[in-house]
Amino acid sequence: MTTCDIIVPCYNEEEVLHAFYRETHHVTDSMKNYSFTYIFVDDGSRDHTLPIMRELAEQNPDVRYISFSRNFGKEAAMYAGLTHSTGDLVIIMDADLQHPPAMIPTMMEGIEEGYDCAAARRLTRDKGNGLQNLFSSTFYKISNMLTEVKMPQNAVDFRIMRRPMVDAILKLSEVERFSKGIFAWVGYETKWYPYENVERTLGTTKWSFRALLRYAMSGITAFSVAPLKLLSGLGIFMCGIAFVYTLTAVICGLIPGVSLGDNSALICVLLWIGGILELSMGVLGEYMTHIYREAKDRPVYLIRQTNIVAGSDNK
Ligand code: UDP
Ligand code: MG
Repeated sequence: MTTCDIIVPCYNEEEVLHAFYRETHHVTDSMKNYSFTYIFVDDGSRDHTLPIMRELAEQNPDVRYISFSRNFGKEAAMYAGLTHSTGDLVIIMDADLQHPPAMIPTMMEGIEEGYDCAAARRLTRDKGNGLQNLFSSTFYKISNMLTEVKMPQNAVDFRIMRRPMVDAILKLSEVERFSKGIFAWVGYETKWYPYENVERTLGTTKWSFRALLRYAMSGITAFSVAPLKLLSGLGIFMCGIAFVYTLTAVICGLIPGVSLGDNSALICVLLWIGGILELSMGVLGEYMTHIYREAKDRPVYLIRQTNIVAGSDNK
């Protein structure tokens, strides 16, 4: 029997938790080839989320819960769930039923076909939230332009993963986590399942515009050193301009009657200072890039398949 853990990050979800368990359990109960365990992560809720989790755990042997000392954010909740999971497969889904439990059997078919991951992608965006939608699509454009990992737009944190992929994700031990980037970074074969957006019927969204902006910024800085590299480019560009201007000023000075004006010497000095400063920052940026990469302590590679058996000389 394949074991499967369902990780559910929850922050102030007292209104939906019972409905979530009822509906999801109804689906998983019909999948007889799998044995499911629910891991609810209470991310420092201030309402009755934790007592409800305890009640669910008392009534149902397949329910586990983890409760944080304060609100650490959804990323931390997902990470805690993954760290405590032991199943052959892991499902991550939101508590608010915006990730339709009815999709689990369909997505599981992808895993049975041999994919490492089956993930959901939203077809339509939230209605009536134009600014947020524009912001989100701009974020994906900028981020995919700047970073080496490509994040599919509208991907949500609803996915089924095999154990090797989960272990790979856990090898990325960085503190400031940006899962959408991490899922893309580790690679592995993912099958995508599009679905129509479901409105939240119970409770309210836990994200403010400010929190989303902060999250987007950390997403870019966690996966891209392009802004640092830009400094070297700008420095070289500025020095180029300084060089051309100085050359022009000198040539003009040599030709009688032609002049770039009284301030040309001052402009030369300013351009050179600007260029050299920018270039120096670029050099610092290059070193910071190295520190940044080393500090992340990411694995140098991840193996998906090999015929080398651990502990043997493989002859
Ligand atoms: N969540 C969390 N910690 C937070 C914010 C959200 O664990 O600080 C959980 C929340 O309970 C829900 C999921 O993350 O299960 C997605 O949150 P939400 O539905 O508010 O986001 P949206 O669907 O609006 O993007
Ligand atoms: Mg939601």
